[in-house]
Amino acid sequence: MHPTDAFDFLIIGGGAAGLFAANHLARLGRVALVNKGEFSESNTWYAQGGIAGALASDDSIEAHIEDTLRAGAGLCHADAARAIISRGGRIIRELRDMGAPFDTENGELHLTREAAHSRRRIAHAKDATGRALGETLLAPVTQNPNITCLNRHMAVDVITARRLGRYSQGPDRCFGAYVLTPEGEVVTLAARHTILATGGAGKVYLYTSNPHVATGDGIAMAWRAGCPVMNMEFIQFHPTCLFDPAGSTQLLTEALRGEGAVLTDPSGRRFMPDYDERAELAPRDVVARAIDHEMKKQGCDYMLLDARPIGRERLERQFPNILERLLARGIDMRREPVPVVPAAHYLCGGVQTDVAGRTPVRGLYVIGEAACTGLHGANRLASNSLLECLAMAELCAEAIREAPEGEAMPALPEWDASGVRPEEERVQIKQNWDEIRATMSNYVGIVRSDERLRRARRRLAIIREEIASYYWQYPIGRDLIELRNLSLVAELIVRSAQSRLESRGLHYSTDHPGMLPEARDTVLAPSAL
Ligand SMILES: Cc1cc2nc3c(=O)[nH]c(=O)nc-3n(C[C@H](O)[C@H](O)[C@H](O)COP(=O)(O)OP(=O)(O)OC[C@H]3O[C@@H](n4cnc5c(N)ncnc54)[C@H](O)[C@@H]3O)c2cc1C
Repeated sequence: MHPTDAFDFLIIGGGAAGLFAANHLARLGRVALVNKGEFSESNTWYAQGGIAGALASDDSIEAHIEDTLRAGAGLCHADAARAIISRGGRIIRELRDMGAPFDTENGELHLTREAAHSRRRIAHAKDATGRALGETLLAPVTQNPNITCLNRHMAVDVITARRLGRYSQGPDRCFGAYVLTPEGEVVTLAARHTILATGGAGKVYLYTSNPHVATGDGIAMAWRAGCPVMNMEFIQFHPTCLFDPAGSTQLLTEALRGEGAVLTDPSGRRFMPDYDERAELAPRDVVARAIDHEMKKQGCDYMLLDARPIGRERLERQFPNILERLLARGIDMRREPVPVVPAAHYLCGGVQTDVAGRTPVRGLYVIGEAACTGLHGANRLASNSLLECLAMAELCAEAIREAPEGEAMPALPEWDASGVRPEEERVQIKQNWDEIRATMSNYVGIVRSDERLRRARRRLAIIREEIASYYWQYPIGRDLIELRNLSLVAELIVRSAQSRLESRGLHYSTDHPGMLPEARDTVLAPSAL
């Protein structure tokens, strides 16, 4: 039996943002936490490096903000950065009090350093911080009688007054969401406040560090509900994903380079000093472009990450999980360099929100990687994203606590499945998935041009037209919902990239290699599409 009665809060997504929000909101009322897979399937669980906060005696909130703004290439919103970063130290201490097994040295938190951070400020749990954090946040959720966890339930769309034909004047209002159950039924979950915490969209690309769930569902749902998106062209490619012709999402954390690993070409020549004076510690986009450039120049499928300078003992102590996973594939990074390629890793853009996740639709919030607050600007500073998830979850709960009581909930209609015909074949779904990912990888990757973007746009338009022709006729299922969302998000990325006529941060165009004097956000609003 599925709960179709009303909740106070409907949270969609069980990563760091959703779990932390659930913990906070359960103090205020009944929470439904909807998650399309198991909790371990999220970007959060995959995070390796850690969470940033100014905790060291030589560090300060100002220095952390300064590093963030520098990485963001003039596009960060300084007020958002301050609101989020000033919570960092306290949130990390709170997580430690909740039992997060952060590494310590002589009783103090061990802080590591990552690319473009001027200080050591990354709290970490060995090299599997995300899992440790996820487990810490999940434990109180599963024990809380005010939280109903609905795993393997997938949100299809949010329900708004405008959609119901009840919209008159003033801002639209959200009443909950339609949710697909594991049995294939679509149920109506009503709630006074709906929070989308659905994570990123790495799956629009062929090579990504993200798990399969990262299909941009929340961004697509919010867009369809009328919310603008911001800075969708800024995709961070992680420079060092394990190369495997059969596919791999295994990252080699940046902390390896922070601790002394170097990048070489297959002949063993170290190339990063040719590109940036900070060499391997240059920002991610610089390192990813350098690897991409060397691969293209030399016609190689990969470059090499040589971790041997770190030393055997430290590799075993500080990076046991990566070591073990590579050993399982027959690679011993204590003895040999590891083949690596860049892979889509983090979406700096998302639904335009304030730091509390507010959208123009009343009762609808977007938090975590699905949102764009302006913290990251044109490039994310490493380990700021988990911090953003947790700070936004807190701020969102505070905003909801202070929000005036909305009007009474209307009766919501059931999902309309009329028009669905018995299944014939679903080969189009796989075909369209593959086409989208190949198009995005080939034309909208690390280095872009006007012509490549035009090609991508043309192809995506055809694919989206095809999807629209069968979406409402097929029995609804996870693959179909994800495909629809993925195709929309891909189009938003391309449109955003086309409207940025400069190179800034993560967006690099061969036709517009310079940076314009004025930094502007790219904002697309649904009515413009
Ligand atoms: C390999 C890797 C390493 C990283 N390392 C770091 C790091 O060291 N430090 C750092 O700060 N950041 C790191 N990041 C980024 C960081 O992990 C993410 O930005 C962050 O965890 C996002 O959290 P989230 O809660 O917004 O989304 P996620 O953790 O991705 O959670 C989203 C959840 O929403 C669910 N969901 C999605 N769509 C639906 C739907 N339609 N219905 C129901 N549920 C849905 C998913 O199943 C998932 O559980 C890393 C990311 C990756 C991939």
